[in-house]
Order: sequence, then C-alpha cells, then structure tokens
Amino acid sequence: MSTTGWTIRRMSAALRAGEVTARKLTEDALARIAATEARLGAWLAIYRDQALAQADAADRRRQVGDRVHPLTGIPLGVKDNFNVVGMQATAGSKILGDYVAPYESTATARLREAGAVILGKTNLDEFAMGSSGEYSAFQTTRNPWDLARIPGGSSAGSAAAVAARHVPGALGTDTGGSIRQPASHCGVVGVNPSCGRVSRYGIFAFASSLDQVGPLARDVRDAALLLQTIAGHDDRDATTVPRPVPDYSAACERGLDGLRVGVPREYFGPGIAPAVAEKVRAALAVLEKNGATLKEISLPHTKYCVASYYLLAPAECSSNLARYDGVRYGRRAAADDLIDMYTRTRHEGFGPEVTRRILLGTFSLSSGYYDAYYLKAQKARTLIRRDFLDAFAEIDVIGGPVAPETAFRLGERVDDPLAMYLSDVLTLGVNLAGLPGLSVPCGLDPRGLPVGLQLIGPPFGEETIFRAAAAYEALADLHWTWPEVAP
Ligand code: GLN
Repeated sequence: MSTTGWTIRRMSAALRAGEVTARKLTEDALARIAATEARLGAWLAIYRDQALAQADAADRRRQVGDRVHPLTGIPLGVKDNFNVVGMQATAGSKILGDYVAPYESTATARLREAGAVILGKTNLDEFAMGSSGEYSAFQTTRNPWDLARIPGGSSAGSAAAVAARHVPGALGTDTGGSIRQPASHCGVVGVNPSCGRVSRYGIFAFASSLDQVGPLARDVRDAALLLQTIAGHDDRDATTVPRPVPDYSAACERGLDGLRVGVPREYFGPGIAPAVAEKVRAALAVLEKNGATLKEISLPHTKYCVASYYLLAPAECSSNLARYDGVRYGRRAAADDLIDMYTRTRHEGFGPEVTRRILLGTFSLSSGYYDAYYLKAQKARTLIRRDFLDAFAEIDVIGGPVAPETAFRLGERVDDPLAMYLSDVLTLGVNLAGLPGLSVPCGLDPRGLPVGLQLIGPPFGEETIFRAAAAYEALADLHWTWPEVAP
C-alpha cells in the first residue's frame, strides 16, 4: 500500500506505532514523483540518495527514541529559493549558475533538526516574482487539477507537489501572495505568517519588508505543525521578534464559539468571479452557522494595494538584486572590462520579469521620482495597514477570497504583466500590513478547480486564523478526490 495520500499526522502516528518506516515513506514519495513528475514539473532537483540517508537516520532516531519530533522521518519539499546545504539553490534564475548552498537557512535547519527528510527543491517564478510559476527560468509547473492551467505562483512547485501527493508538506515564501495564491489554486492549505514570526535567514531576498516564509500542506493541522517547527526568534535574523511561539495545534481545536469574522466589502466587488464569491460566501455561512458571527467591514484603501505593492516590491528588489553582479555568486559572463562584465552577466542571467522589476524599482527610487512614486506608495501602505488595524478593533479575523478567479490557463497572462499583477489584488494587503493570512480550500468551481478561503489575522494572530480554518475544515468536510495526474 502506498502512503503518499497520508497527512503528516497520519504518517507520524504510523511511524510511532512502528507500522511504517521513514524509508518506506520516502520511497513511496519518490515513486509517486517518478510516476507523475514528467507531466507536472513541480521539482527543479530531487536528491534521492541524500533523502534515503536522511530517512534511515530518522528510523534510527526513532528506534532509540532520541529527540523524536512529529516531523521525524516525514518527506517534505522546499522551494528553490532556500539555502539547504549540499543542494542547488537557483531561485528559479539562471544568474545563480551552478551555485550550491554552502550554508543552511534557519527554516530548513529547524526542519532538519526535527528529523524531516528534504527530498529536493521545488520550482518557482524567478526570484519569487510572479503569480503563475511561468516566470521560472527553467520549466513550467502544471496544476495537478488541470494540466492546461497554472498552479499559481510564485511557490508553484511546492503547491503542485503537495496537491499531487508527492509530499504531505512543503515550504514556500510569500511576498504578496506566493504561498496563499498557489495553495488556493491547487486546493491545499498555505500560511503566510506575521512579519517577524519566521526567520528569513538563508533565503534569497526579494522585497525584504514584505517577504515571509511559511508552510503548504494538505490540511490545516499539518500546516500548524510545520509552522510551529520553523517559527520563533533567530539570532541570525534581526527582524524576528523574541516572542514565544504559541501552541498552534492547540489553537486548531478551539472551535468557533464567539469568533467575530469581518467580511470586507471590497473583497467581493467587481472582478471577483461569481463562482469564487459564491464558494467563499458559503464557507463564511458555515462559520456563522457554527458559532461565529459575521460582520460586514470596509478596507477602503484596498484599491491602492496593487499600485503601492508594485512600486515598493520592485524598489526593494532593485536594491536586493544588485548583489548578482558576476563577482560574488554563480554566473559570470566573459567580457573585456568590468562594466561590460556586470552588464553582460545581468543581461544574460536575469529573465524579462526580473529585468522589468529592476528597471521599475530603479526608476521609482531615482531622484525627482522618489517623492512622486516611492514615498507616495509608502504613505498608501500606512493607510492600508491602518484599515486592517481599525477593523481588528471590532473583529477577530477577516474572511474573503484569496484570488479573484480560479487557476487561469497556461500562457494566458504571461505576456501581459498588468493582468498578472491584478490577480494579486486580494493577497497583497496582508504583506503590506505585515499580517498573518492563510488559504484553506472551500470547494471546487463548476470547472472542477479549487477555490480558497482566505483568513487574515491581526499581527501575531496566527492562533486565530488556525482556529477558524481548522474548525471550518472539519465542518466543511469537502471529501474531494485528489487529482490523479494520470498519464
Ligand atoms: N505575485 C506577486 C509578485 O509577483 C507576489 C509574489 C510573491 O509573493 N513572492 O510579486
């Protein structure tokens, strides 16, 4: 019997009971990948031998009862913008050349300490810039529910790998929706934690004031377990806060009684597909029927999210990506002099979307334009954050859609950056305001494509979003059949 459809908790219980070995879990995962990956393109690299060695080490650890953690022996995937020692780290870009991580990101170090088995690195839009996975310099990932459609992005491979039952969980990064939106499109759970909750040490920076690290999993409780393991202060990332990490698994069992859910009017406006609005409203009604109260709220500055994000994120990326100059990392173009070398390296190494963002960012930071663009966008960001904080004076959690539509077709927006950017309208606010947000599946549209319910909490309110999402998940009992991805 194959174990690939199991949740992390089921795998963990079976390991504890001695019913399976970590080696068996890893072998099953590798077999499932071998059978489906050619059609899916979720992984940029698989480390078979390393994974089996880690699995054997986990089995020994369990045998002697040494530092056993619920993740000991569980196979996982990691987005290819994390440094994991001995594995490639491309960030989905050609500019890193044949770079192999010489050090470990804190998030993956914590997974490894727990004894998790990292199978390999998953595909992403170049430097995590994108909403479809199509801006990867290497390959296109397909949505397991419909191979002609995008899985979402930028954590495209992580979401597809979890939905296709390659692995029960994976890590991603979220700067403006890159965990929640692919989770929504692939029918899995994805969590973007509060700013300061999870260390970004060892992850390729895109926009540092917005980037977060979080888990994708097939259900809320597994996602809570993964976040529990990676969260918390890190001496190596001064932006992490020295606050204790609450028990997220316990929060999942708290139920809905007395929970006040705010429903933003702006999240159901024109442009939201009726099938999406309908599923999300039905999910909110389930919360209401079971002890929560719903209250319509307004987040009036939502209309400035796309404009301010697409000024601030490029501005920050233009600075962060200056380090890829042919001197410090990976790829270096042959050239006659230094300036020529910089120019050629960057021209050959960066793809069109990254180039576009560096140009936009450099422009908006240049003297004469700074006040008109960058500073204005920062002011709008403050107003967007204030909208959320005002709302949280009267409610505990916000509920709405993750994306205006379900997964669109491959190729449909790749040449229309503005249309691509607009699809992020409902996820950007969370990162601009530094809030925790998650996506939990709430049904399928008439085409059979997953719809996600987004739950947003106040700063460090992860417990509340886990509480609401876990209760919803148990009540909704979607009972769907995971896609086969058969030939
Ligand atoms: N789609 C957004 C962008 O392209 C968000 C990406 C992300 O969250 N990393 O910037």
